[in-house]
Amino acid sequence: MLTLTCPNCGISACETELAAGGEAHLTRHGPGSSDDHFEAYLFMRPNTRGVHFERWRHAAGCGKWFLAARDTATLEVFGTYSAQTTEPPADLIDKIKAKRPDWSFSS
Ligand SMILES: [Zn+2]
Repeated sequence: MLTLTCPNCGISACETELAAGGEAHLTRHGPGSSDDHFEAYLFMRPNTRGVHFERWRHAAGCGKWFLAARDTATLEVFGTYSAQTTEPPADLIDKIKAKRPDWSFSS
């Protein structure tokens, strides 16, 4: 069972109380961008096995969006943080690197 702590209200919620929103930190290109950029934004996902950053909504709670870092293979949760960020917090990156020395963040 996946349990995430909502950073908005502080409640630890199991996945049945949450709604998955897909990959976090996607680059959305503006008007005039190429078809390739738009296609990449819509469809191209790495389907990562390991450390992954995701969007979640606390659907059965406060209703707000937040972001989470977890391992897709082990379900280990490294942390959650505000959806109002463009990159994961530095302390979370450091925490993940401490547990996964071979891992590096790429946006
Ligand atoms: Zn909440």
